[in-house]
Amino acid sequence: MSAKCECGGTYRRVKLPSYDFSGFAGLPVELRDAPGLRCDACSGVALDGEIINAALLLLTQQILGLPRVLSPDEAKFLRKRLQLSQKALAERMHIQRETVAAWECGQKPLSPQHDYILRGLHFGAQLPAGVAPFPRDLMEEALGRVHAAGKIPPKPEPFIIAAELKGLRKTAVHA
Ligand SMILES: [Zn+2]
Repeated sequence: MSAKCECGGTYRRVKLPSYDFSGFAGLPVELRDAPGLRCDACSGVALDGEIINAALLLLTQQILGLPRVLSPDEAKFLRKRLQLSQKALAERMHIQRETVAAWECGQKPLSPQHDYILRGLHFGAQLPAGVAPFPRDLMEEALGRVHAAGKIPPKPEPFIIAAELKGLRKTAVHA
C-alpha cells in the first residue's frame, strides 16, 4: 500500500543518501542510505515508523558503547529512551532530581558512577514495553567502557547510522 503525502502526492520508496535524523533524536544524527519515502509531487521525504525505531535502537546502542562520559544530550537521550521523567529517573537512581537536571543542561558533568548506572538501566528488566533489552555481551562491553579515558569533545561530531539500516529495506516494504 502506498502512503499519501500531506500535499496529496504519493510517496515512493527511495534510498536516502543522507537524512538528518536530529529532530527525532534530540542530538545530531545523520542516517546514510536509509530506506525512505519521497513524495512524487513535492519531493518531501519521510521515514517509515520501523526505520525510525530501528535507527533509535542503533543510536541507543552507539551511545551505550561510547568510550567516554556521556554528554548532556546523550544522557538526556538515554533517559527519554527509558521513558522516564527527570524525577522518575532520579528516584530510580536514588539521587536528587536537580542532579539529573544539572547533567542535562551541562551545568555539572555526569559522574562515572552515575553514567554507569544510567547506561546499566538499559540492560535491566524494567524497560518500558516495546523496548527490547540488549544482549548480555553488549552490556558487558558497553559498561566496561564507561570508565575509559576520554573527554567529551567541545563540539561532538554527529552520530552516523549507516550500514546497519540497509538490511531493513525488506522488512520496511511490508509496513
Ligand atoms: Zn508531497
